[in-house]
Amino acid sequence: MTQFDLTDDQRAIQEMAQRFTADAITPHAGEWDEKHIFPRDTIRAAAELGFGGIYVSEEAGGIGLGRLEAALIMEAMAYGCPSTSAFISIHNMSAWMIDRFGSQALKDKYLPDLVPMTRMASYCLTEAGAGSDAAALKTKAVRASDSEGDHYVVTGSKQFISGGGENDLYVVMLRTGEDGPKGISCLVIEKDMQGVSFGAQERKLGWHSQPTAQVNFDGVRVPVENLVGAEGEGFRIAMMGLDGGRLNIGACSLGGAQRCIDESVTYTKDRKQFGQSIADFQNTQFTLADMQTELEAARTLLYAAAVKVTENAPDKTRFAAMAKRFATDTGSSVVDRALQLHGGYGYLMDYPIERFWRDLRVHSILEGTNQVMRMIVARDMLRG
Ligand SMILES: Cc1cc2nc3c(=O)[nH]c(=O)nc-3n(C[C@H](O)[C@H](O)[C@H](O)COP(=O)(O)OP(=O)(O)OC[C@H]3O[C@@H](n4cnc5c(N)ncnc54)[C@H](O)[C@@H]3O)c2cc1C
Repeated sequence: MTQFDLTDDQRAIQEMAQRFTADAITPHAGEWDEKHIFPRDTIRAAAELGFGGIYVSEEAGGIGLGRLEAALIMEAMAYGCPSTSAFISIHNMSAWMIDRFGSQALKDKYLPDLVPMTRMASYCLTEAGAGSDAAALKTKAVRASDSEGDHYVVTGSKQFISGGGENDLYVVMLRTGEDGPKGISCLVIEKDMQGVSFGAQERKLGWHSQPTAQVNFDGVRVPVENLVGAEGEGFRIAMMGLDGGRLNIGACSLGGAQRCIDESVTYTKDRKQFGQSIADFQNTQFTLADMQTELEAARTLLYAAAVKVTENAPDKTRFAAMAKRFATDTGSSVVDRALQLHGGYGYLMDYPIERFWRDLRVHSILEGTNQVMRMIVARDMLRG
């Protein structure tokens, strides 16, 4: 695996995540997928290593690392299970939004439980009528005041929420003002608040180790102190969260695809047809060479984008979008070729390839589709 001039500390973190994955994730991931098991205990064990608050500040109890370190951790865990790694990424994104934009009271209220993942958080942007056009969201928060104090009354519904129904906290983008992005705010809503309910668990192609469900709000009363940032800042905060989330999703594709390359090297050396290892065919060798070359290119771009997000570079959003698009498309293409190299066996659940093929497919769709990534890049290029 490329070292991209990693520091000794970064290498140590990467190795720690790789060891954790080999011990606690890889041996079980196939069963989690097959039986749709949500591995809560393993996720909490990851949090004991600090992975529940990777880029939450040290003052707030996190491990205060940068986005390259986060990508290294996500990539390492995805080598065992992209679905579980991505779940932890979404929690990190939500915790970071509270740490970066929440009031001290809000941080004190939630981060001591979020960092160790004794409570887990979801990110709620998408609605049935507002997917790629997220700023068209309609979930409404109306400010009110009574003898018990200031609060919002929230009504609406969020679609496709990772962790929906299982997680304890929901970081929700909702409308407090005018149409469009400037009328959007961000509130933390608790699972047990009256009026919160969940749709049935979605039945999905992949990501079986984590829940996905609709989250509904029916007149939910949320204290004003649960506002993240100021009123009207919610969309900007949500997009800043996604800069990091997109790097992590791209990193999950890198880790999953690297696993499939490594599996393919072993398999093609072992499998014999026409009296020789299929690894001896030049087609196999060229395919493997292309898979590794393309993945290294994606990895290098993703690490570079991660450094830009850490440094708050002016072109960080463009780079995060380019890296997410390229790493997730490349990852899926690599895994597809790995499946082909495994022949019919690649299609069977006896080998892990088909699970990675299914798990990586959604990475081109969520946290902004790869068409939306191209829109972000082109818009920035044409801005002048
Ligand atoms: C398993 C899973 C987990 C998810 N988890 C979360 C979560 O935790 N939180 C959350 O908020 N959301 C989550 N999502 C939602 C995800 O982010 C959306 O599905 C995604 O943003 C796309 O929205 P959509 O599905 O409504 O597709 P649409 O927006 O309807 O897009 C359909 C197609 O049209 C294309 N398209 C749309 N607009 C344009 C355009 N202007 N130009 C070119 N092409 C366009 C899209 O690229 C896509 O190919 C999750 C989704 C899935 C499947």
